Amino acid sequence: MALKVLILGANGFIGSTLTEQILANRDWQVFGMDISDDKLGDSLKDPRFKFVEGDITINREWVQYNVRKCDVILPLVAIANPLQYVKDPLRVFELDFEANLTIVRDCVKYKKRLLFPSTSEVYGMSPDSVLDEETSSLVYGPIEKQRWIYACSKQLLDRVIYAYGVRDGLDYTLFRPFNWIGPRLDNLLDAKEGSSRVFTQFLSNVLHRKPIQLVDGGKQRRSFTYVGDAIDCLMRIIENKDGCASQQIFNIGNPASDLSVAELAKQTIEVCAEFPQFKHLAEAATVVSVDAGTYYGKYYQDIQARVPSIKNAKDRLGWAPSTDLRTAIRHTLQYHVQRGEVNFA
Ligand code: UDP
Repeated sequence: MALKVLILGANGFIGSTLTEQILANRDWQVFGMDISDDKLGDSLKDPRFKFVEGDITINREWVQYNVRKCDVILPLVAIANPLQYVKDPLRVFELDFEANLTIVRDCVKYKKRLLFPSTSEVYGMSPDSVLDEETSSLVYGPIEKQRWIYACSKQLLDRVIYAYGVRDGLDYTLFRPFNWIGPRLDNLLDAKEGSSRVFTQFLSNVLHRKPIQLVDGGKQRRSFTYVGDAIDCLMRIIENKDGCASQQIFNIGNPASDLSVAELAKQTIEVCAEFPQFKHLAEAATVVSVDAGTYYGKYYQDIQARVPSIKNAKDRLGWAPSTDLRTAIRHTLQYHVQRGEVNFA
C-alpha cells in the first residue's frame, strides 16, 4: 500500500515544494489542506493529491479524520516571518503553538508518525559557533524583545513532542530549517519591506529598483539552504528507512553557505546581472544601511550567526546539501522567468 502523507499548510513554501516532489518522484498519496492554493499549480491536477481549501483551526473534523487515515503527518501551518513576530506575537503563539499542539495530540491519540517543523531559531543567541541538535543551549533575550515568542513557541512544542516520545512512544522527527530559500519562499512580485524573508526581499528590491536595506550594516550571518536540497532531506525523513529518523532531531541547513547578509546582497545583484533582461536593474541597484530599530521596531533583536551541524543528517540519512547560494538565486530567478512572472522593463 502506498504511503499516505498528510500535509497541513500544503500551499506554503515547504508544503508546495514537498507536494510537487512527492508527486513527481514517489508513488505516495498526498492529502493537503491550506487556506489558499496559488502555489500548488499542476499538483492540483494530480489524482494522487487530494486537496481541500480550509483552515486547520476551523476544519477540525477534516483534520482529525485525515490524521487517522494517513501514515505520516506534517503540520506545516505557521507564521515564520520575523516582522510578524514583533507585529503580532499573539497570533504567532495562537497559530504556531496552540493550533499545532492540537495536531500533535491527534498524532499521539491515533499513534501516527509526526514530522514537525522546529526551527533554526530555537538556538536563538546560542554561543556555539556550530549548532548541535543535542548539545547546544537555546538562548533568548528579554521579554520586551517579542521576537522570541516564535522561538519560544517552537521550542516548547519541541519539548512537548519529545516528552510524548518518552512517555507514550510517539514516533516523531523534529526538523530545523536553516534559512531555506528558493522559488515560492515569499511573493517576489509583492515583497513589501519586512513582509518577506531577506532572500526574497533583496531580489525584489533589485527588480523593483528599490534600495537594498542592510539591517545594522548586514554583518549578521545565515546559512542559506536551497529548498531542493532541503526537500531531498525531508524525503529521506518521510521514507524513514529502518526507523533511521524516528525520535530524532535534524538540522537541515548548508554550513558551506554561511554568509553575511551584506554578501547575500552582493551576490543577489551579481546574479541578476547575469540575466540580460535584468542587467540594467542590477547595474542601477543600490545598497543602504538601516538600523534595526527603524526597520523592525523596538521589539526586535537580531541573531548574529547561525551555522548548523549536519552530522546527524549525514550519519542517519546519508544526506548533504550540494547547492551554493549563487545557484539558488539563479534557479529562483529562472523559475519566475519561466512562468512569465518577472517582466521588468
Ligand atoms: N534583513 C536585512 N534587510 C532586509 C530584511 C532582513 O538586512 O531587508 C536581515 C535581518 O535583520 C536578519 C537577516 O536579514 O538579520 C535574515 O532575515 P530573515 O527575515 O530572512 O529571517 P531570519 O533569518 O532572521 O529568521
